[in-house]
Amino acid sequence: MLPKTADIVIIGGGCMGTSVAYYLAERGAGKVLLLERERFLGMGSTGRNAGGVRYQFSTEVNIRLSLFSLDVISHFEDGFGISAGYRPIGYLFLLTTPAEIAMFKANVELQRRVGVPWVRYLEPDEIAPLVPRVNLDGVLGATFCPRDGLADPNSVTQGLAKRARQRGAQIETETAVIGIETAGGRVAAVITDRGTIATRTVVNCAGPWAATIGAMAGVEIPIVPLRRQFFTTDALPEIPRDHTFVIEFATSLYFHPEGAGLLVGMSNPDETPGDTYAIDEEFHCKTLERAMYRLPLLENARVASQTAGLYEVTPDAHPILAQARALAGFYIAAGFSGHGFQHSPATGRVMSELILDGKATTIDISMLDLERFAEGRLVREMNVV
Ligand SMILES: Cc1cc2nc3c(=O)[nH]c(=O)nc-3n(C[C@H](O)[C@H](O)[C@H](O)COP(=O)(O)OP(=O)(O)OC[C@H]3O[C@@H](n4cnc5c(N)ncnc54)[C@H](O)[C@@H]3O)c2cc1C
Repeated sequence: MLPKTADIVIIGGGCMGTSVAYYLAERGAGKVLLLERERFLGMGSTGRNAGGVRYQFSTEVNIRLSLFSLDVISHFEDGFGISAGYRPIGYLFLLTTPAEIAMFKANVELQRRVGVPWVRYLEPDEIAPLVPRVNLDGVLGATFCPRDGLADPNSVTQGLAKRARQRGAQIETETAVIGIETAGGRVAAVITDRGTIATRTVVNCAGPWAATIGAMAGVEIPIVPLRRQFFTTDALPEIPRDHTFVIEFATSLYFHPEGAGLLVGMSNPDETPGDTYAIDEEFHCKTLERAMYRLPLLENARVASQTAGLYEVTPDAHPILAQARALAGFYIAAGFSGHGFQHSPATGRVMSELILDGKATTIDISMLDLERFAEGRLVREMNVV
């Protein structure tokens, strides 16, 4: 039954909402209620993602979010009773311009300084043995981190949700939030299609729809949904199952083992904001063409499936992890711009600290406030795929 009151209401049942629910419930945060409009958890971006996890980011805060999260993901079974399917196959960024080389060398230095000693820069002759079937024409260098890799977003979301419930959180699916009431400059209630819940605290974990939830509360949130798509192939026995995750940075073409074949994606630089899961066939053909250039054996592969999902994009490719200054009790954990799954454990942890203690102590997230956009304090992430 939907309660009439809750101490904290979380909107959105993807990897972020379930993580925030778990870390709050673990701290004994009172009555924690998570609302999801779909029938099942993880049906938004969480259920349509490529499963990549990596330490290779270009800002300290993103690297720290990875350090905390990958520690949880790689030991997930111990804490959550279900494997997260972590496979450290490594991420190989292929670099094709001197400017990229300079930027990635600086990134490697930063990553090593912040706590990722495994990452390294590779000269061209060191790359070929790692990826013998990849066409390396025009590749001037690469970076490689063997502990980057893959994990399963669905297992992580279900594991977090299960433990959140066990620690007392209530999760209600098929419950759409349709309004937020405020009084005296703070959150007062959440209105759903099943009734109204009085609360003083809301956490907006609505991913690509975070701006719509913000609008319900009169808070402007610069997050837009942007379609991204990938396809999978039938079996490719020539590619070992532990083949590294390859990214051609200049085009954002990426591929990694998936089932018995490969998962292949690329970001369309001309995509415009919108809320559609329709496959763009023209761009699919461009992706296929580029993929066949870098991995010629794909010419013999059959496309097994196509998936489109939504990135939740902010102007600086960093999330908003903060309470809105204009509305007390309105927290936002959204806007991960295409790499959120891998940061979901850390997000739950820092949001629980922010809400319960007034400040995140595990990781300094103070620069990820909502007001940075209006005040021109952007924190740009360059390693966006
Ligand atoms: C094609 C693609 C590939 C990606 N690849 C990777 C990757 O390799 N690695 C990685 O780390 N990340 C990746 N991502 C990004 C990652 O999927 C997202 O950053 C992450 O899933 C965001 O999680 P979330 O919980 O914030 O959002 P979501 O999973 O979208 O959850 C938001 C939830 O809010 C619910 N909701 C919305 N409005 C309401 C309402 N009014 N009432 C109730 N519920 C509501 C939605 O139904 C949804 O379930 C990828 C994304 C896409 C699209």
